[in-house]
Amino acid sequence: MPAAGSGTRMGKEIPKPYLTIAGKTILEHTLLQFRHVKEIHELIISTSELFKEQTREIASAVFCDIELTVIEGGAERQESVFKALQYVTDSAELIAIHDAVRPFVSEELILDCIKTASGSDVDGAILATPAKDTIKEVVDNNLVVATPERDRMWQAQTPQIFKREILLRAYNEAASRKYIGTDDSSLVEMIGGKVSVIKSTADNFKITYPLDFQLAKLMLSGK
Ligand code: C5P
Repeated sequence: MPAAGSGTRMGKEIPKPYLTIAGKTILEHTLLQFRHVKEIHELIISTSELFKEQTREIASAVFCDIELTVIEGGAERQESVFKALQYVTDSAELIAIHDAVRPFVSEELILDCIKTASGSDVDGAILATPAKDTIKEVVDNNLVVATPERDRMWQAQTPQIFKREILLRAYNEAASRKYIGTDDSSLVEMIGGKVSVIKSTADNFKITYPLDFQLAKLMLSGK
């Protein structure tokens, strides 16, 4: 679970996963969505040095019977995930990556994603929603260069779950090619991996901007 972002787009000093809503940090709200998922055997969280202790406290209160590792992340999300991957045990079949700032993912969708990712016909599965708006490809000077067919456009979310071996290979390959993707799936796709999409819902949004934080507050205060 990458939780090492700085929170600059939120305009806050405290990084997003550690902002509090309804008496709990966003990180805790997110972890709580996974607490009954028995397929999870270990949890590795990347964070900043400053938040390691707090992270350990939060995570150990939610998960008392699985192995927990808290490490220092990197400058980019991809680096934070790459560092965490070094700690995954060899016996793991699947690796699930979930943003610490998506506290509304449902257990049902997590289980769907695990089930699909473990199928023999694919290398992994990700949650995504069909694009609601028309997507434009725009170049540097704000000129539209293409309008991809909307029916084929999906917006990727997390969790993104993959078979361990291919994910490690994808991350190593990305590091040697100096490729930075905006999600984990793009790295697996880059080496020819087959990734299936699970239709998700808009409430699994990533708390990114102040408006997202306000919405999360509204949604969690009713819980
Ligand atoms: O920055 P963004 O919104 O894409 O972050 C998605 C997730 O990745 C967040 O949970 C954030 O804490 C994490 N992240 C990270 N290391 C970074 C940047 C982001 O672990 N360097």
